[in-house]
Amino acid sequence: MPAIRTRVTVAFTVALSVTMAGFAVLVGAARRASAERELQSRVMTIAELGERILRQAGARPIVVNSDSLVGPRLDAPLVEVLDGLPGYLLIADGARIIYQSPAARALQPNEFDVLMRAALSLTPARSAGYVSLPVPDPLTGIRAPASGPGRNQLLVVGRFEEPTENVPVRRIVAAETTESLRFVRRELIGTVVAIAPVVLILFGLLAWWMAGQALRPIDRMVGDVEAITDGRSLHRRLHPPRAADEIARLGTTINAMMGRLEQSFAALRRFTADASHELKTPLTVIRADLERAMQAKPGTHDQLFALEEALQQSARMADLVDSLLTLARADEGRFDLHREPVPLEPLVHEAAETAQILGEGPGVRVRLRELQPATVDGDVVRLRQLFLNLVTNAVKYTGTDGSIELSLVTDATEARFIVQDTGIGIAASDLPFIFDRFYRADRVRSRASERGGFGLGLAISQWIAHAHGGSITVASRLGRGSTFTVRLPLRPQGETPVAGTRERTDTGD
Ligand code: ADP
Repeated sequence: MPAIRTRVTVAFTVALSVTMAGFAVLVGAARRASAERELQSRVMTIAELGERILRQAGARPIVVNSDSLVGPRLDAPLVEVLDGLPGYLLIADGARIIYQSPAARALQPNEFDVLMRAALSLTPARSAGYVSLPVPDPLTGIRAPASGPGRNQLLVVGRFEEPTENVPVRRIVAAETTESLRFVRRELIGTVVAIAPVVLILFGLLAWWMAGQALRPIDRMVGDVEAITDGRSLHRRLHPPRAADEIARLGTTINAMMGRLEQSFAALRRFTADASHELKTPLTVIRADLERAMQAKPGTHDQLFALEEALQQSARMADLVDSLLTLARADEGRFDLHREPVPLEPLVHEAAETAQILGEGPGVRVRLRELQPATVDGDVVRLRQLFLNLVTNAVKYTGTDGSIELSLVTDATEARFIVQDTGIGIAASDLPFIFDRFYRADRVRSRASERGGFGLGLAISQWIAHAHGGSITVASRLGRGSTFTVRLPLRPQGETPVAGTRERTDTGD
């Protein structure tokens, strides 16, 4: 259980981290784009302002300091106004710089050189660009490296003017470092680094708790299942949660499965107990008979009588073992059915004749009421066994002066073999069980009677009917007789008879 819980928590935390990282990247990209736009418009605005200031001062004369090596300069009041603008600002008249802002003036000569070259490289067609320059940020004073991921850049934007008579100004170039862009990234990374661990820990704990809550019913069910240690504790049931969720369904399904297992185990125990009991009786009789035979004088009537009884009992035991084997194989689905087209009329005739012979003793009349031609796909030996089981039962449970009627009728899809007797009938309370193994409606009488069976005949008959895709049903009233009906699917018309095929069967019981 902890394994699943841990896995769910780890998976959730990893998924959350990936989502957060993805989100941070998207937000970072969006913020950087907007910061870049802001920077561009700021630099543009400074350049525009510079241009406007110059244009307003258009009437004022420009002091040309011809002695200076630097070249002409703007007059002092104008320089004072322009000095109020932030960032780097250069104004050039042709290739001569006639104004530098205080930030530009503070640059090292080589840095100024780079800035100047960048300013002069701008053209009206390419009026903006980035240049790498390890200049200090005029706002923060931070001097970033010239290269590498943290390198500083300048955004240089120029405005161009046609020189006039009074204002021989051609380009006004404003520049600002990209420090603000890096600041945005640093700020975002800082926020993510500060918040992410807290969020991950909090949500990880939440996931751990929720997984624990979700798995708790399973934990309880595992405990319940562990308490079922052997076949005897199969009466125990799980306690699924009330909610109509998957776990509740799992619990209900396991409970239903345990119900079926309990029934199977009980049936198996009953079967083993019954089988042992049924085998014990003839064995005891055989033992007693053999003892009697050994004590009796050889060849006397007593000895022969004892030996004959032992023989009868061993034949009875062989029958029982045979039936048990049949059922055991049927249960395992290991029974080979030799399928072939089987006409049922001869089998019904045979069954009627057997019933007549068996009924002679007790004086039971046997009549063949109806016999319609019918052919099924099946195993002739097993079908004969099925029919004989039913007619022997009918004779066995029908008293003197009783009668038995046999019919074979068909409809479009199936053949029905009906055995109707006027015998002792079966009580309504016994009816649901008579196809169960070892079930005898009246144990005392069955055992006492000479032909008392083991209660396996109908179980085998039912298996044979099912194995042929058919069924067997009974209608009976105590004292009024019983009617057993076997339904078997007819062989489809027009199908060419083929050589018998072997197949494994499963009763599905
Ligand atoms: P058995 O070998 O005891 O006859 P079966 O499995 O053939 O075992 O039958 C199960 C029980 O069903 C019988 O013990 C009997 O009580 C009842 N039974 C079967 N056939 C008939 C019938 N034709 N009339 C009355 N009871 C029957």
